[in-house]
Amino acid sequence: MSEATGKIALITGANKGIGLETARQLGKLGAIVLVGARDLAKGEQAAEVLRGVGIDARAIKLDVVNEADRAAAAKTIEQEFGRLDILINNAGVMLDSRDGGDGWPANQTSTTPLHVLRETFETNFFAVVALTQTLLPLLRKSEAGRIVNLSSILASLTLHATPGSPIYEAKTFAYDASKAALNSFTIHLAHELKETKIKVNSAHPGWVKTEMGGEGAQMEIVDGAKTSVQLATLGEDGPTGGYFHMGEPLPW
Ligand code: NAP
Repeated sequence: MSEATGKIALITGANKGIGLETARQLGKLGAIVLVGARDLAKGEQAAEVLRGVGIDARAIKLDVVNEADRAAAAKTIEQEFGRLDILINNAGVMLDSRDGGDGWPANQTSTTPLHVLRETFETNFFAVVALTQTLLPLLRKSEAGRIVNLSSILASLTLHATPGSPIYEAKTFAYDASKAALNSFTIHLAHELKETKIKVNSAHPGWVKTEMGGEGAQMEIVDGAKTSVQLATLGEDGPTGGYFHMGEPLPW
């Protein structure tokens, strides 16, 4: 038996990219994976692929910004399983222009349209807070609830403020600010839940070869899912309220 055997795991944005690979790896560890997808047909396709390799996968229609979808997902999980063990808030968007022309994104902070900021925060921050709040009663019913928030190294205020850091020139304001806000949610929720069995952590997957990662990305998807899987399967003595990449803490 692995540490995930029989666990009920919901992964948002699991129809492709890091989310799909996370579902595959958790499924291989014995979890029942709920493949969240805003387009149910894509979710069904992904779940079918996972079932083809022996994983207990079920698609669930979940546009994270849609309140009705969030409520319906909670109801389905409640009715079918009565609890949720693992929530991976993986769905995310990067809407900033990345056309810097010199290998770095253009820093367009002074002209970033407010609608870009708002839309980015809707998905990367508000939807995560809302979905987590909706599912918390089910996570409280787990023997060992685990919440993983897919952040990014680009959320690190310390590294952004440090000339010469690996991300110093990579200033995609809307995305970076939304993930910094997400990190704040991780810290605050973990503090509130510190006397419970639920652990809450932020993950930086690495710069991963997905649609979002783009052409420069160097990490294979199989490795990009490892941090999420590690944090989803933490033992009782594992950390909470942290920000990690491959087991190593990152500066906030
Ligand atoms: P991706 O390949 O672009 O996949 C993003 C996933 O999120 C897709 O399944 C997408 O669904 C879904 N999504 C977006 N908006 C959604 C919504 N409103 N409701 C439900 N699903 C939604 O990106 P990825 O690289 O796998 O990224 C996964 C997570 O890792 C993101 O949170 C990202 O910020 C983070 N991350 C990625 C990297 C990287 O290098 N790739 C680095 C740091 C952090 P559709 O297919 O329907 O669009």
